[in-house]
Amino acid sequence: MPMSTDVSLPRDSEPIFPSCCCRCLAPDAEQTVRFSASRFSWWQVFFVWIWWFRKAVRHEVPCCAECRPSIRRRKWLELIVYASLLVVSLAVVMPWLKSMGASRQWQKIGVFGGAMVFGVPFFVWTVVRPQAFDMTVGDEHVEYEFANADYARMFADGNPGYCSEDLGSEDEFDDEDDDELEDVDASTELG
Ligand SMILES: [Zn+2]
Repeated sequence: MPMSTDVSLPRDSEPIFPSCCCRCLAPDAEQTVRFSASRFSWWQVFFVWIWWFRKAVRHEVPCCAECRPSIRRRKWLELIVYASLLVVSLAVVMPWLKSMGASRQWQKIGVFGGAMVFGVPFFVWTVVRPQAFDMTVGDEHVEYEFANADYARMFADGNPGYCSEDLGSEDEFDDEDDDELEDVDASTELG
């Protein structure tokens, strides 16, 4: 399944992106797409104003001229869908909670919760069909997520000190063999 290959780096380190296209690996990646992400914690639902003061992580990710429009379209599609989910949830969940006499804090939780529930099919789709590049910002680390596993490998090689569960295993295709080996080990122990 073509899920993203994730590589984590410390948040304060400046990553070096391989100069080829992050989507198709074309060597002449003379263009870039700007990606920006911020740390999101559930408690920020209560302090929506804090979103304006969050320090965003921004990177220009190399891509070729052919892939750039497609990468940008996908990036905007995700933003529009997230915004639409919130708008739909505001329109559907908010009046319902108000009619039940819920407090403002519960209304906020309800709107975000509703957006998450309405978005499940889309979230599943983004996992199965990841965009060329994405980031998840943590307190200490930033997770760089690549649809192209070969680009992720090059990215990891160019950034010593990385951490990656996806690249940690010897070979993706050996998963079944590994399971079998584990089973053999387990049965040996039992024997
Ligand atoms: Zn490309």
